[in-house]
Amino acid sequence: MSRAKICDVAVVGAGVFGAWTALHLAKRGKRVLLLDAYGPGHSRSSSGDESRIIRMGYGADEIYTQWSMRSLAQWKELFAATRNEALFKKTGVLWLAEAGNAQQSATKEVLKRNGVAFNEWGREELSERYPQINIDGIASGIYEPESGVLMARRAVAAVVAEVVRLGAEYRLAEVLAPNGTGKTPRLNTTNSSEPFYADQFIFACGAWLAKLFPEVLGKRIFPTRQTVFYMGVPAGDARFSSPALPTWLIKNDESYGMPDIESRGFKVALDRHGEAADPDTQPRIVAAKEVEEIRGYVARRFPALKEAPITETRVCQYENSSNGDFLIDRHPELSNVWFVGGGSGHGFKHGPAVGEYMAGQVLGGGKAEPRFSLASKETVQRRIVF
Ligand SMILES: Cc1cc2nc3c(=O)[nH]c(=O)nc-3n(C[C@H](O)[C@H](O)[C@H](O)COP(=O)(O)OP(=O)(O)OC[C@H]3O[C@@H](n4cnc5c(N)ncnc54)[C@H](O)[C@@H]3O)c2cc1C
Repeated sequence: MSRAKICDVAVVGAGVFGAWTALHLAKRGKRVLLLDAYGPGHSRSSSGDESRIIRMGYGADEIYTQWSMRSLAQWKELFAATRNEALFKKTGVLWLAEAGNAQQSATKEVLKRNGVAFNEWGREELSERYPQINIDGIASGIYEPESGVLMARRAVAAVVAEVVRLGAEYRLAEVLAPNGTGKTPRLNTTNSSEPFYADQFIFACGAWLAKLFPEVLGKRIFPTRQTVFYMGVPAGDARFSSPALPTWLIKNDESYGMPDIESRGFKVALDRHGEAADPDTQPRIVAAKEVEEIRGYVARRFPALKEAPITETRVCQYENSSNGDFLIDRHPELSNVWFVGGGSGHGFKHGPAVGEYMAGQVLGGGKAEPRFSLASKETVQRRIVF
């Protein structure tokens, strides 16, 4: 490889954040090189599962409601332009919560203020509409009819295909970060390891950010093990498919799930942070105690699925920041190196808005949001964004 500059901006990481950043930069006429060590939306990345929820409700964290709205419009626009409409499933999203849940009340206010359509249902209406859910301990629900599910790994592939169609290059390669004495990133492929040059480098490396930049991010990105289960629904039973069952979140239980989409099964997971995880090496097989926990949970909330077989599982990682806010900022010492990450278990839906914001920061002219700064990231976890 020549020592000449090979692009204007190198985007390292083709998960949802890197792919959308590359797309916004390519749309603004930049020569972009998008790189990934394992491939876009691969099964060890956080963007790699079949599906991710897109919802507008974020309690009082209005910036995320607004970014979700902005992002849903861009996802739909991309899917329409690339004939990928099936990658968004408008299942509706139902938030269930106990009496007096502060996040639910704040969500209603923010949704109203931002003109997001929603319904509010009490216990009676919930049990009539959703007899397949045991609503013990639940006081009310908010239903977002326009929200739903993004078909995650295929959606990332669609973004990368669009990036390439616009003239950018995608390459399978591992990038070694500029650390310590080596100030130039290096490109590692099967046959070579060489320095490479660009005006700007954006590291959109999810949970790997902590490993790539140990001095700066080793204590500021907290990757945690998260398990996801798909369960086979009873034969001929439509109660666990859309529209009978929407995508759901239950605040009391720190749980979420989706109806049976594309016949893969009813999806269910706990949103509690698991143990610390290494994204390269953590075991991707679920443990017996994780199976037992989810079985107990499903039997309680969805009694008709008590005996349902587990048809598929995924083990993934959240790449948490200290409080759940994204990290989108410049490296503290290297002025042409940027970080974008900290999706913290809720980032997927925001890919388009994150990419747009990142492009604005790198190319200049974008207003900086203090919540996304490196300076705001603590070394102790205290989750506030859900
Ligand atoms: C179980 C689970 C459920 C979730 N549910 C939701 C949800 O319902 N809704 C929602 O909005 N969000 C959800 N999220 C969060 C969301 O999926 C993540 O925040 C988002 O996918 C993060 O994307 P990313 O691009 O930052 O990281 P990743 O998708 O992990 O991508 C990072 C990429 O960087 C590459 N990379 C790393 N190091 C290098 C290197 N040195 N050289 C080259 N490439 C490199 C990796 O190979 C990887 O492809 C969930 C996450 C998990 C794990």
